[in-house]
Amino acid sequence: MPTTKMREVEKILSSQRQLEGAGFIVRRPLPAPGLPALDPFLLIDEMGPVEYRPGEAVGAPDHPHRGFETVTYVLEGEVVHEDSAGHRGTIKPGGVQWMTAGGGIIHSETPSAGVMKEGGRAHGFQIWVNLPARLKMTRPRYQELEADQLPTASTSDGLAHVKIIAGEALGTRAAIDTLTPIVYQDWSLRPGADVEVALDPAQRALVYVFGGSARVGNDGKSVKDGQLAVLGGGDVVRLRAADEDARLLLLAGVPLNEPVARYQVG
Ligand code: MN
Repeated sequence: MPTTKMREVEKILSSQRQLEGAGFIVRRPLPAPGLPALDPFLLIDEMGPVEYRPGEAVGAPDHPHRGFETVTYVLEGEVVHEDSAGHRGTIKPGGVQWMTAGGGIIHSETPSAGVMKEGGRAHGFQIWVNLPARLKMTRPRYQELEADQLPTASTSDGLAHVKIIAGEALGTRAAIDTLTPIVYQDWSLRPGADVEVALDPAQRALVYVFGGSARVGNDGKSVKDGQLAVLGGGDVVRLRAADEDARLLLLAGVPLNEPVARYQVG
């Protein structure tokens, strides 16, 4: 049997509060000051949670993306999207849109008309995944899954539950097909939860906590709400709740080790 190497926390980044699009508030752990990316991840935004009053909600009007993928995961509220090719849809609570911008797309992302008019809660994530040079001009593609189409799994003690957007956990595989090997999982941990997730040693792994606090690795380093932990090398990550419920994203991807020419509009 090959020996197992535990991934331990190497660095912790605190998210910055930032205005995005036409003026919505995000918590942004990446990019961080002096850290433009954590290859292959270019951006991690937590949108909200925010309670909009009537007429207060704003979105991101028409803007372009090219050469990477945007992954939108909605927890509360709705995101209506419309693009230059005439595609239109609504991402509902618990749903995911994996958009491969590839050769280029212009789209808008806004709250639903109801939330714009009457107000309401909004909470979710948008993550940007870089594409290797050979795939930068690939044909744009959407994969959209509603909440009940996302594979889920729980530990036998019921203390850990995972929604699997990408990758594999507890013997369950994602339904989304990624162009590069990506792990994207939403873990809910109760106190006492203690789970191990096998990860390809070639992948860089990150843990972003967005509720409560978690203990990561055999060291049990505490990662708190709004913090992004960068993990060291190994082939397994251990996740535990601290003394309260914890909610976190587990992200992993193989670094491309290619130069990034970056230009962000607005
Ligand atoms: Mn966009």
